[in-house]
Amino acid sequence: MTDSSFLDVALTRLDEAARHLQTDGDVLERLKYPRETTKVRLMIRMDDGSRKSFLAWRCRYDDTRGPTKGGIRYHPDATVEEVETLAFWMTFKCAVMNLPYGGGKGAVQVDPRTLSKAELERLSRAYVQAFARIIGPDRDIPAPDVYTNAIIMGWMADEYASIVGQSVPAVITGKPIALGGSLGRDDATARGGYYLVRHLARELGLGSRMRVAVQGFGNAGQFIASLLAAEGHSIVAVSDSRGAVICEDGLDVDALLRAKAAGQPVTSLAGQGGVRTLAAEDLIAVDCDLLVPAALENMIDEANAHRVHARVVLELANGPVTPEADRILEGKRVVVLPDILANAGGVTVSYFEWVQNRQGYYWTVEEVHERLKATMEREGAKIWSIARERQVSPRTAAYIHALSRLASAIEAHGTQQFFTS
Ligand code: NAD
Repeated sequence: MTDSSFLDVALTRLDEAARHLQTDGDVLERLKYPRETTKVRLMIRMDDGSRKSFLAWRCRYDDTRGPTKGGIRYHPDATVEEVETLAFWMTFKCAVMNLPYGGGKGAVQVDPRTLSKAELERLSRAYVQAFARIIGPDRDIPAPDVYTNAIIMGWMADEYASIVGQSVPAVITGKPIALGGSLGRDDATARGGYYLVRHLARELGLGSRMRVAVQGFGNAGQFIASLLAAEGHSIVAVSDSRGAVICEDGLDVDALLRAKAAGQPVTSLAGQGGVRTLAAEDLIAVDCDLLVPAALENMIDEANAHRVHARVVLELANGPVTPEADRILEGKRVVVLPDILANAGGVTVSYFEWVQNRQGYYWTVEEVHERLKATMEREGAKIWSIARERQVSPRTAAYIHALSRLASAIEAHGTQQFFTS
């Protein structure tokens, strides 16, 4: 898929939702294009004394409902189209969860594994220097994304503080706890998906002993596997970029976590207690109740969707199922819990971090979990009932739900009808 079709695909979801609502033309005109995308070249001094430049972007897609919110990705293949598409998704994700935010995203075109730690720090500080007038606690609030983490967010918050001359922890989320981060942020994405599945289990026809397959055993994949295994569900197959393993009686999740922590692939467990290897691309075909894509975009497409055997797909990754695959899965009566709801636990706890920073009053991990659970259950139930009432997929229902909130905010400024009547 080309990058431009990436954004076009995202916009087809908007068009589909708009067909179900009496959406004013002004609303679609506003949401079809990003409000502002800034491109810069970051120049940093490398350890060998040379200077090197890196392309970087920050997109504020729409800020009608509040300051824009979205992560910063460090990736060699980052493009402006990808940044704008991710910012579009963030706009809808924040609206789905009723967070008082618009959507944004940022990226640096770099392979961070080729930089030393000192170079990575200089690059991260250079990003903030370049975008200091765009970001801000009431304007645009970054967070971690692919290949960025809490320590990078800490450097960025520190750089912002030295530019404005005061500490402003609410400028960025996903910070280390010692620098104003929130308890419960590390597993928030997976935990949000876990609360959602638990809440809708009966409607989804899922029992108390599910067979689960997890594609991608990174941050999101490891936490969802641990949470579900702790509740007695059986994690029958998992994969990472180097391969997959399957065990009919359930994999030992703790052993998998230990292997990953030691830098080994999941396939290193093969041969122990009924564990067999599987080609990574066969993971989606495993016979299971719940399939959790937690790796990359477009992993389930027209070519392989017919192989899915699960009853329910929980999209912890962003955009793992293409629109063609969506249609095939719908035909097979596989229910897809869409990314803008299923993985919104991460941005929800980022919002909690921002609130705590502004209050200067910090919550216990139990309070964070309780509020996350309540938010996921509230919005999940609303989306499920829209899907039922309108006879649409949960994905279309989630877009309808978000669009109606965005439309109310945009229309509150006055529509064509208001100005011409
Ligand atoms: P991560 O880098 O920690 O993990 C990704 C995992 O996917 C790794 O284990 C990698 O080996 C694996 N992988 C890569 N290619 C694969 C392939 N072809 N087959 C199987 N596995 C493969 O990333 P993460 O933070 O867990 O994010 C995963 C997805 O979830 C991304 O789409 C991300 O945008 C989305 N997401 C994450 C968060 C979060 O808070 N971490 C929040 C929202 C959305």
